[in-house]
Amino acid sequence: MEQRKKRVALVTGANKGIGLEIARQLGRAEVTVLIGARDNDRGRAAVDRLRQEDLDAWFVPLDVTDETSVRNAAACIAADHERLDILINNAGVSDANDGPPSTGSIASARRLIETNFLGALAVTQAMLPLLLQSSNGRIVNMSSTLGSLTGNGDASSEFYGVRLIGYNASKAALNMLTVQLAEELRDRGITVNSACPGYVRTDLNGNRGYVSLPEAAAIPVRLALLRRDAPTGTFLGAEGHVAW
Ligand code: NDP
Repeated sequence: MEQRKKRVALVTGANKGIGLEIARQLGRAEVTVLIGARDNDRGRAAVDRLRQEDLDAWFVPLDVTDETSVRNAAACIAADHERLDILINNAGVSDANDGPPSTGSIASARRLIETNFLGALAVTQAMLPLLLQSSNGRIVNMSSTLGSLTGNGDASSEFYGVRLIGYNASKAALNMLTVQLAEELRDRGITVNSACPGYVRTDLNGNRGYVSLPEAAAIPVRLALLRRDAPTGTFLGAEGHVAW
């Protein structure tokens, strides 16, 4: 009987935080994980950590805001693996000068959109030919409840009043990528979903938060590993669907 090939996953921004934990959980599920990181030393250190846990991890230099880096990463994956089964657009930033729409820094909003939205868009476009080589392509965009238009206007929402125009808009734009690309790829066997990991203690939010890394990573990992009946065009959090 033909041996089923191991799946190959690229996780962007995987040298620490939620991305590293996603890579770990995918590795434990017998997936070959490609650690996308913009810094060589940090990327290689993450690969070493996962290899010490006997996981099949490899480093791919990848700055999601750098066109050449994105193109080179796709070429490197094409040469080594010929296809990609799972793409997790996880790389993301926050910015101390972000703030409410009345006063938030424009430069900060530009930087946030550049990484959190345009970075994910560029990586997705570059990896699409490789994902189309997979029989079960899965794209998961790491979004946030803060990117929910409904949640931002709902006074009963836990995050009502968190007015970070750059960050929130970058995640709302990422959600639009999810919805539009899911429709575009509906008949091509690739699912596209947004995931909210919850409020997780990482460098991104100054190490505040109450959801553990394993719990947070389990949400995108579930979306990535479903082979059959995988949803597409959805926004999922720990408690199920998050309102757009
Ligand atoms: P971390 O700050 O711990 O990790 C962010 C990762 O993204 C790092 O590996 C960082 O690399 C990488 N990164 C940033 N910019 C780039 C870039 N241009 N190219 C490649 N990699 C880059 O944050 P989290 O783990 O918390 O965040 C992961 C994702 O989850 C983000 O998209 C975030 O918005 C989202 N999220 C997080 C929440 C939370 O409560 N923590 C809540 C909701 C969503 P480097 O080490 O080089 O800086």
